[in-house]
Amino acid sequence: MGIHLSRDGGAVRRVVLSCDVPGCPVQIEPPAAERWRSDTDASSWAREHAVGWTHDSGRKTDYCPEHAASSVPPAEGTVAPRPTAAARDINGNPVNRDIYAEQLRAQLSKESLDADTPTLLEPAQSHVVARLLDELAGVYRGEKIGALAAELSAILDDHGAKPRR
Ligand SMILES: [Zn+2]
Repeated sequence: MGIHLSRDGGAVRRVVLSCDVPGCPVQIEPPAAERWRSDTDASSWAREHAVGWTHDSGRKTDYCPEHAASSVPPAEGTVAPRPTAAARDINGNPVNRDIYAEQLRAQLSKESLDADTPTLLEPAQSHVVARLLDELAGVYRGEKIGALAAELSAILDDHGAKPRR
């Protein structure tokens, strides 16, 4: 297991990856992940940000750029796991963020078919929800769940969520 997670009360979740080739001393500390991320999520975040490093998910090992070829390449079309930070399935396990985003989107288009449901948020609340969605979109930039958050934020703003002057 070439990963070391630290949560010593700091503001961020630090992750150090070390190469799993015996005798190789190379380590890397990718940009720290947000503290709220789970261990699993912080690990996948770190691996995504370790440039040139490879991860063998089958053997749960990591390799430095020099030894990158030591990992067995993932099967064609395999995507690194992207666990949700808060959402859980019925067994209490994180779900794949891409699948979760698709489920939320499907729910959205289904419910928008229902006629004129009145909005339940005050303008100021709606504005704050939009800003929270912007944060989510920033954290998950380039992912389906981030794109969904950005779209919904724009919809809220379009619907007069901006605070009155
Ligand atoms: Zn190495």
